[in-house]
Amino acid sequence: MEAKEIQIVGGELLTPNMPIIPFIAGDGIGPEIWAAARRVFDAAVEKSYANKRKVKWLPVLAGQKAFDETGEWLPKETLTTLKKYLVAIKGPLTTPVGKGHRSINVTLRQELDLFACFRPVKYYPGTPSPVKEPEQVDIAVFRENTEDIYAGIDFAPGSKATQELLTLLQKEGLAGRVRFPKTSAFALKPISSEGTKRLVSAAITYALEHDLQHVTLVHKGNIMKKTEGGFKKWGYEIAESFGNKVYPLTHYERLQEKEGEQAARVELIAAKKAGKVIINDIIADNFFQQALLQPAKFDVVATPNLNGDYISDALAAQVGGIGISPGANINYQTGQAIFEATHGTAPQFAGLNKLNPTSLILSGAMMFEYIGWKETAKLIEQAVADAIAQHYVTVDFAQKITGAHELGTSEYADYLISKI
Ligand code: NAD
Repeated sequence: MEAKEIQIVGGELLTPNMPIIPFIAGDGIGPEIWAAARRVFDAAVEKSYANKRKVKWLPVLAGQKAFDETGEWLPKETLTTLKKYLVAIKGPLTTPVGKGHRSINVTLRQELDLFACFRPVKYYPGTPSPVKEPEQVDIAVFRENTEDIYAGIDFAPGSKATQELLTLLQKEGLAGRVRFPKTSAFALKPISSEGTKRLVSAAITYALEHDLQHVTLVHKGNIMKKTEGGFKKWGYEIAESFGNKVYPLTHYERLQEKEGEQAARVELIAAKKAGKVIINDIIADNFFQQALLQPAKFDVVATPNLNGDYISDALAAQVGGIGISPGANINYQTGQAIFEATHGTAPQFAGLNKLNPTSLILSGAMMFEYIGWKETAKLIEQAVADAIAQHYVTVDFAQKITGAHELGTSEYADYLISKI
């Protein structure tokens, strides 16, 4: 077998039998959860494809380790390697503290144009949860990754840019809306139709591929009419391009206005019967309420960057928290993707062989699914489900489950491997 890079041809990923996959082990607990995860991945590939397929893991540097070795937090060579090999996986990275430093994660997303942060949030029976019916949560979150206030355009009070902004606001007759002009800082929130449409399109495609009933646009368009309201408007616009595979609720509203509630309801029921994906929307604050009260109403959620940040963690908290929930940053057009642990470096636990490697392990399962190695993905997910159901877990879960078998990070990996 010759080790080769994964490629994208005609929109399709081509995975060789021995793909080269770059990994960033990460900082803090990163190296120990990566070591555990990698053993689980190799065992699952071996079990699913014997000697026919194998991953060649390629270490790349980023974060504290990169800074210590090269003086750069994100070396150019790392970006070049990630671009070349298309699909990669990473542990958590320390965010450099100090003036002018941006989060490495945000930089990676921007530099590689990884426009969708995809977080499937679902419940594994046996997981300790603060809610009564966590099994109702099964929601795929598509968070826009490159726009919104994460563009990092922030101006300090009294700066030249702030003065010029205030002058502009005066010209527009809006200066009166700034309560304390002398002491205000400002941030800009770019949200575009292109950015919105590629994200919502990915969310709808996912719903169609997985036979899911709803795609919900979550926004604050009631307050920020042009930006968040734009997200809603452009989201519904791109939904139209899916033709009769979808039923946008804008159709319902139009018919309701023209022919009344009854006619609109009949059309909606017919659309559901025909298996069309229903595209609807909800204001973000109401979403948080409904996601706790009636989570089963949501299948796929598409949302701008900041809302998505809160939503992913709030949903994850219902089904076991950040130690278990997986994620990926993906550009569905170029195929470029980084699968990642969704938690941070937990530096106070580094080297203790204690914390939970499941977030990274399930992110790996998502990665194998993405590159078309579905059998491997299934084996990994099933092993995690078995471990949680039997209560063979790391300290974060063990503390909340009476009679649990508490395992260290690497012993937990051993247990998963024994189930594969
Ligand atoms: P954190 O996620 O590292 O830790 C917060 C708490 O969550 C920990 O104290 C621990 O109790 C728990 N936790 C985290 N990971 C866990 C796991 N795998 N298993 C069980 N429990 C776990 O957040 P923080 O302390 O705010 O950040 C520490 C560093 O990580 C900072 O430098 C921050 O910038 C960085 N960070 C990186 C990422 C990333 O790389 N994706 C994400 C968040 C934070």
